[in-house]
Amino acid sequence: MKDYIHSDPLIIERGEGIKLYDIQGRAYYDGFSSVWLNVHGHNVPELNKAITDQLGRVAHSTLLGMANVPAIELAEKLTLIAPKGLNKVFYSDSGATGVEIAIKMAFQYWHNQGAREKKTFITMKQAYHGDTIGAVSVGAIPLYHEVFRPMLFPSHVIPYPYAYRHEGDETKAMEATISALRHLLETRGEEIAALIVEPIVQGAGGIVVMPPGCLREMADLCRKHDVLLIADEVATGFGRTGAMFACDLEAVSPDLMVIGKGLTGGYLPVAATLATDDVYNAFYADYEEQKTFFHGHSFTGNPLGCAVALASLKLFEDRSLIEGVRMKASFVEQKLRALQDRPYVGEIRQKGLMIGIELVRDKVTRQPYDWEERIGVRATLRARELGMLTRPLGNVMVFIPPLVSTETELDAMTDILAESIISVTEGG
Ligand SMILES: *Cc1c(COP(=O)(O)O)cnc(C)c1O
Repeated sequence: MKDYIHSDPLIIERGEGIKLYDIQGRAYYDGFSSVWLNVHGHNVPELNKAITDQLGRVAHSTLLGMANVPAIELAEKLTLIAPKGLNKVFYSDSGATGVEIAIKMAFQYWHNQGAREKKTFITMKQAYHGDTIGAVSVGAIPLYHEVFRPMLFPSHVIPYPYAYRHEGDETKAMEATISALRHLLETRGEEIAALIVEPIVQGAGGIVVMPPGCLREMADLCRKHDVLLIADEVATGFGRTGAMFACDLEAVSPDLMVIGKGLTGGYLPVAATLATDDVYNAFYADYEEQKTFFHGHSFTGNPLGCAVALASLKLFEDRSLIEGVRMKASFVEQKLRALQDRPYVGEIRQKGLMIGIELVRDKVTRQPYDWEERIGVRATLRARELGMLTRPLGNVMVFIPPLVSTETELDAMTDILAESIISVTEGG
């Protein structure tokens, strides 16, 4: 707050397309999709109309013991587009609540079947699953999570295959992950309820892309050892990586999948936890058996949010948005190639339209910038001056543009990105 109060705070008044406008009328590209949410841009007529149409019917009605029309229609749609086997939908209102639901469901799934010893979780180093206490317990970013350690339940942490910080060797990095997972499953498998993972791209940990085949192998190991797989697709879902879900990239079907962020096109707070029939059936019993999943939020399955999510998914189809993402991603990749030779650019990581650029003090030794230098923050402030908003992750510059961004817009945004990086690293 001290930094914020002494800064000139940015106050957004409106949005149009992929630009946001502040109260002085200055325009900015939304270079991080308003924290990784936005899909179709801002103030989109089709999405606005879906909300106002629904508003003319009902703004909210509970899902506790009843249903509403858009929540049913959206659930049906989600089961059609999700990885196969995910036939059941449990709504909530943020990625973190969706994660809480997944971990509680995984725990109670085993409990209901008498496997009471299966109660711990495996997570990955630098994992981020949201900021509520359960989600933090399966999180592993020391800067955000360490202070709360005494409040958390313990989880097993396996290495994330972060090849750049593993001497640049993808094979070795992946082997370290797989062998740690295999060892844990072989020795402690009977105590473990689930593995939770950000599939293919670890987001808040620094936009770190897994080596090909890693997710597939992790999924196979879990299946073999009777441990559930929870895919946290909150950041990667809805086209961001060039597939509808990152799990699709390796034909992985998790037991539980959490979605949020882009679900409503980034318009309203709706999240969901999808489950297989097998998970669902572990709770399906006579009242007397007391197998109920006791969990609910006041705004669960909000009709306005579900209506806009349906309209967003229709736009995905009408505009063949995902094929577009793949083309745009290769355009961005080519444009950023020039940055690779810059003296302080350590690594450019990208999957689809999810890009992280790790800045380093020494390119040869890969020595990071000291955190006190706030290199990411400074590059971000420079980008803002140049007309683009983003938010860094430590020394990693983040570029996560709305999926609808055109090549012309991506061209302008990548120019700003490059200039902001060069000016703070080389410009003194
Ligand atoms: C953002 C994020 C969350 C948390 O979502 P909120 O809606 O902010 O609670 C969880 N997992 C991942 C991978 C995320 O990127």
